[in-house]
Amino acid sequence: MDVIGHFVDGKPFSGSSGRHGDVFDPATGRRTARVELASAADVAVAVEAAGRAARLWRDASLARRTAVLFAFRELVHARRDRLAGVITAEHGKVLADAAGEVQRGLEIIEYACGIPSALRGGFSENVSTEVDSYSLRQPLGVVAVISPFNFPAMVPLWFLPIAVACGNAVVLKPSEKDPGAALLLAEWFTEAGLPDGVLNVVNGDAEAVDALLDHPVVKAVSFVGSTPVARHVHQRGTAAGKRVQALGGAKNHMVVLPDADLDLAADAAVNAGFGSAGERCMAISALVAVEPVADALVARIAERMGRLRTGDGRRGCDMGPLVTAAHAARVRAYVEAGVAAGAVPVVDGRNVEPDGDPNGFWLGPTLFDRVTPDMSIYTDEIFGPVLGVLRVGSYDEAVELVNANPYGNGTAIFTNDGGAARRYQHEVEVGLVGVNVPIPVPMAYYSFGGWKASLFGDLHAHGEDGVRFFTRAKVVTSRWLDPRHGGVNLGFPTQT
Ligand code: NAD
Repeated sequence: MDVIGHFVDGKPFSGSSGRHGDVFDPATGRRTARVELASAADVAVAVEAAGRAARLWRDASLARRTAVLFAFRELVHARRDRLAGVITAEHGKVLADAAGEVQRGLEIIEYACGIPSALRGGFSENVSTEVDSYSLRQPLGVVAVISPFNFPAMVPLWFLPIAVACGNAVVLKPSEKDPGAALLLAEWFTEAGLPDGVLNVVNGDAEAVDALLDHPVVKAVSFVGSTPVARHVHQRGTAAGKRVQALGGAKNHMVVLPDADLDLAADAAVNAGFGSAGERCMAISALVAVEPVADALVARIAERMGRLRTGDGRRGCDMGPLVTAAHAARVRAYVEAGVAAGAVPVVDGRNVEPDGDPNGFWLGPTLFDRVTPDMSIYTDEIFGPVLGVLRVGSYDEAVELVNANPYGNGTAIFTNDGGAARRYQHEVEVGLVGVNVPIPVPMAYYSFGGWKASLFGDLHAHGEDGVRFFTRAKVVTSRWLDPRHGGVNLGFPTQT
């Protein structure tokens, strides 16, 4: 049985905690490795290595930093199939989906290759006579990145390239459920020329996370995960004086207006509801049908679901297993609760016949009609292949429902009415909005983030917000001495 350790100071590192977690192949149900769970002392070794590296890396020229990023981009691109294979083996998502995740991660690396433009400051000549002002953005030092299981490569890549390009050193704590992708990325970054210690990976659970939140050398924390943990990370990290962005869970609504193209909407609902078995923070889990379209829409969705093949992600199936047996049992319990609460199970995934090992963590795509806002299948983030249809009478009712939800990560509206779409994008209290686009994940050069219980902190991930998050601004006011400026004057400086 493989034991997966940590990666510190440019090489593999075995901690001393003696604690381990299990890594499974979700499509077979077999345990494939054990992963070390770091203690606070193990975390301290990684943070100290990062601290030493940060002092040198901050002074590396922009040309040197971008040379590393370009080389890293080439390595990840050339080895993208291998990375996708590791993701599928530990997470379960189908290979094509894993390849898509790698592609979205590559886009952030490419954005970071242009960091010299993003870091450019401003310069004002003669703000006062012969006095100039200019702004700089400088690295923070050591930053921590804590990522969830559902995007084991893409979510770390939302942060690592930009943090490193800005001159920081990083300690990454990936999900203990699928740590393989993060370790590969760290090895490949080192191979691309990143100095030892600039990127370290510690595997672990809550103990490692809390150690990072408490360590005084860690200056900032980028977290992505569920809302209760995001709230904890934000509270504990900010209490310790750190800058924290903590992206949390989601309940994403797709509103379908009566004038929408129902075939387009049905395709979108199936793709966004069941892609990656619903284990996406941008998955659509609540479909809000503005009557009279619900019957026609539900029929179209059910028809498409009948053609989906659930099975091993290496066999060309449409949808893979859930990540762990415990998670599959939890999602199944939600399906049972939905039935008990009176929602109509139009397609029941509990009866799925998977194309894969019977011991895999299977649950087929499930569609509920006549879901009401009080049911747990609506109030809770299920994070599985369960799509619920809520029927409302008007556009206003739809917006009210979406805005009353505590989450605000992503949403979409399907309509052919530009005025209605524009009104929705204006009125909806959600950070990422799609118009006839079901999973509106912005490109690398925009920033990604939700509102309300989906994000704690101010700055979103990647794009301009990412650069702001990983740097501190400084403004310099300078005058080169000229004998004419001599003389004591205790008055407050004003422009002259
Ligand atoms: P999770 O909250 O269980 O774990 C996330 C990270 O926190 C992991 O590294 C884990 O080891 C650590 N962790 C878990 N429990 C902890 C605790 N009590 N204290 C400190 N650290 C702890 O999330 P997950 O199950 O890995 O991922 C799924 C969740 O992530 C979903 O809620 C999903 O919506 C969310 N997510 C959000 C976004 C976004 O952009 N908003 C993106 C991806 C995933």
